[in-house]
Amino acid sequence: MAETLDITGAVCPVPLVHNQQIVLGHGSGGKMAADLIAKTFLPAFDNPALRAGDDGAVVDISTGRIVLSTDSHVVAPLFFPGGDIGHLAVCGTVNDVAVMGATPLYLTVGFILEEGLELSALERVTASMKASAAEAGVQIVTGDTKVVQRGKADGLYISTTGVGILPDGRKIGGAQAKPGDVVLLSGTMGDHGIAVLAARGELGFETDVRSDCAPLNGLIADLLAACPDVHVLRDPTRGGVATTLNEIAKQSGVCITLEEKSLPVKPAVASVCEMLGFDPLYVANEGKVLVILPAESAEKALETLKKSKYGADSIKIGTVSAAPAKRVLMRTAIGATRVVDMLAGEMLPRIC
Ligand code: MG
Repeated sequence: MAETLDITGAVCPVPLVHNQQIVLGHGSGGKMAADLIAKTFLPAFDNPALRAGDDGAVVDISTGRIVLSTDSHVVAPLFFPGGDIGHLAVCGTVNDVAVMGATPLYLTVGFILEEGLELSALERVTASMKASAAEAGVQIVTGDTKVVQRGKADGLYISTTGVGILPDGRKIGGAQAKPGDVVLLSGTMGDHGIAVLAARGELGFETDVRSDCAPLNGLIADLLAACPDVHVLRDPTRGGVATTLNEIAKQSGVCITLEEKSLPVKPAVASVCEMLGFDPLYVANEGKVLVILPAESAEKALETLKKSKYGADSIKIGTVSAAPAKRVLMRTAIGATRVVDMLAGEMLPRIC
C-alpha cells in the first residue's frame, strides 16, 4: 500500500482514514462499515425495520398476493439534469412494481461502491433516494454495501428490489392486451435517454433536456381507481416505446398500430435525435407509462392521467387489433404503414 502523508507532513506507514472518500474498509463489515451505515444510510432511510439492524427486515404485509421486482442501476454519469442514480434506482423499481397493478411498499438496496468515491457524492445520492422514497410512500428496509478497488467500478452501482401488494382480482400484464383496446402514453418520449447523453458532455452542443425520472405509483393508483378495466401497464424504459410495445404485442398475440402524428416528443429531444440519427421511439424513458385499455375507457383514463403532474401530456398513440399478430405498425404522417421493430442491440449503453 502506498505511503500516506499525515497532516504534519511526515511520512506515515499506515494510510489515514480518509473520511471524505470511500475506502475498502467501508465494505469490511467492521467498524468503518458500521460507521457508514450509522452516519450515511440510517439517517437517510431511517425506519423501524432498518433500525433493528438484523440480517433481514421484518415488515408487515396484508395477506394476498405480493409483487416483487428487481433492477440494477449503472447509469453514467451518476448525476444528470432531472435526476441521479439514486432517484433512478428508487423510481425504476417503484414503477416496475406499480405497473403490475400493485401498491409498492418496501425496497431493499444494494450498493457497490468504488474505492475513492467522494462521500459527499454518496450522501447526495442517499438524500435523493430518501426524497424519492418519501414521495413514492415506500420504505427502504434493508440493504447491503460492498466496496471494490479503485478502477473496478464506475463510482457507484445500485441494485434495488421492490415489494408491493396486489389487490385481489387485479390482472394487469403484458399478455392482457385485446383487439379493440387503445394505447395511451403518459407524456413525451426520450427525455431520459437524451438528458443522460447530454450530461456526458459528448454532444458537442448545449441542450436543456431534463430526465423525466419520476415515481409513477400515485398516477397509476389514480388511474386504476378511475378505470379498473386497464389491461396492460408498462414503463417504456430501455429500448423505448417501440421495444416495449413489441414485447406487449408478442405477449398478447395482437397487432398494435401507432399514429405517427400523435407521438409526443419535445422539440429539444426531437432536434437532438435528428442530429444523432436516433428515433425517439427507441430512446429510454424513466417517468412514463404505456396504458392499454378498452376504447370506451380511453377518455376517462386520459382525463385522470392529465390531472397528475407526471401525466399532463398524456395522449392516445395507437390502437390494438387482432392481425397481423405480434406486430407493431405505424401509420405515418403521409398515410403509409410501416413495421416498427424492436431495438436491435444497444443504442445508448449505461443509460439506467
Ligand atoms: Mg419496467
